[in-house]
Amino acid sequence: MTPEEFRRQAHALADWMADYLRDVGSLPIVPRSEPGQVRRALPARPPEAGEPFERITADFRELIVPGMTHWNHPGWFGYFPANHSPPSILAEMLTATLGAQCMSWQTSPAATELEQVVMDWLRGMLGLPDTFSGVIQDTASTATLVALLTARDAASGPLERLTVYASAEAHSSVAKGARLAGFGPERLRTVPVDGTFAMDAAALAAMVAEDMAAGLVPACVVATAGTTSSTAMDPLREIAEVCRRYAVWLHVDAAYAGSAAILPERRALFDGVELADSFVFNPHKWLLTNFDCSAYFVRDVPALLRTFATSPSYLRTTNDPDVVNYRDWGIQLGRRFRALKLWFVIRSYGVEGLRAMLRRHIAMAETFRGWVESEPGFVVPAPSPFGLVCLRHEPVELAGDAPRLDDWNRGVLERVNASRDVFLTHTTLGGRYTIRMAVGQWQTGPEDVERAWRRIVEAAAIERNKLHGVP
Ligand code: PLP
Repeated sequence: MTPEEFRRQAHALADWMADYLRDVGSLPIVPRSEPGQVRRALPARPPEAGEPFERITADFRELIVPGMTHWNHPGWFGYFPANHSPPSILAEMLTATLGAQCMSWQTSPAATELEQVVMDWLRGMLGLPDTFSGVIQDTASTATLVALLTARDAASGPLERLTVYASAEAHSSVAKGARLAGFGPERLRTVPVDGTFAMDAAALAAMVAEDMAAGLVPACVVATAGTTSSTAMDPLREIAEVCRRYAVWLHVDAAYAGSAAILPERRALFDGVELADSFVFNPHKWLLTNFDCSAYFVRDVPALLRTFATSPSYLRTTNDPDVVNYRDWGIQLGRRFRALKLWFVIRSYGVEGLRAMLRRHIAMAETFRGWVESEPGFVVPAPSPFGLVCLRHEPVELAGDAPRLDDWNRGVLERVNASRDVFLTHTTLGGRYTIRMAVGQWQTGPEDVERAWRRIVEAAAIERNKLHGVP
């Protein structure tokens, strides 16, 4: 493809992209495709000769797009959002066009220095002290693994005696990271949670003391600021005090909720985060930045480098003593130019614009919560400090019958999602099947939240009629 042909195709694709962003709300959120359908529609072998670009883009529109789940549909309320925004998309186009490898300062000086600048901006926005240094990782899972590996190497004891602590509500990436970092399954301690699903800091203190008395070496506590099931906030200050007392690495996983630390009125929820050793949150969840972009902050950079720095001769440069080489700040060598999209996003919206977006989502979630709480038969089983509201429908006919109530809520959720114009997901909270409504898609408006609530109420009424044999 010549540069002129590229220009023509790029203009056509830009038109498709703008139409898609405008019209995505009219598409079914979840595709109608059956397992294997897309694969069967595609040839089993690659073409020997190159195909016309128009034919490829036509297949993209006709075979691929209808098989996609549209996370950026305004009726998206599932999982946590995986947001993007027009400035972020445009920056991704530029990143792809530059095609740069950003592993070292020398391989892309501007990429390294822009990453330093935007991570410093973010640190200030979050209210983290400037003793933290930032690096962009691909995902929170990777960042947590990086923290666990660093904590493992910084601990003073043999691997088989090191222990890790996380609450029963911590994300599955913590157990996965602990396993990958070589901590035996019996060395990952599950700390109980209180009635709000937040870590019980007193129980943590007792477990750490008990383990030390038994000759074990507590290496890392992973606290969660905004759990996946219900956005519970572990008490960071109390946990940090335990970690300080026993010299244990504290990693804070704020994958989703961390964005809300830029809101002055929500910052108190993160009190104590400044005492952590490392902190991660995902701008790719709730800060308008395309996946993947995970902001990892660490206090002890020399400890990080001791775990991750390598210096093969082919990568060494004369600038090394004076520059940051981000390849030494994580697992991968090759790195995408992820800082560019973050820079575009922060400059396009400004910090106030980003705050306004978060406040809009939180306000819609609060309104939704009010509707659920005032509707007979519905319960809200957990606090909802951000954009996520958990709910269950508990009709009187099934009162006290937990297994049937679980099936009942599963049925309600499946009926809601069958509409394909809203999409919610579920979790298990306190052992009970629970519906999650996560408001956070950038194009979502009050009418979308209202539609979701209408679908839930209608689905519950239909299920109830079925229970009473009403057709
Ligand atoms: N930690 C928490 C609290 C999460 O909610 C999630 C995902 O929802 C993750 C970690 C994993 O995030 P990632 O997909 O960036 O690895």
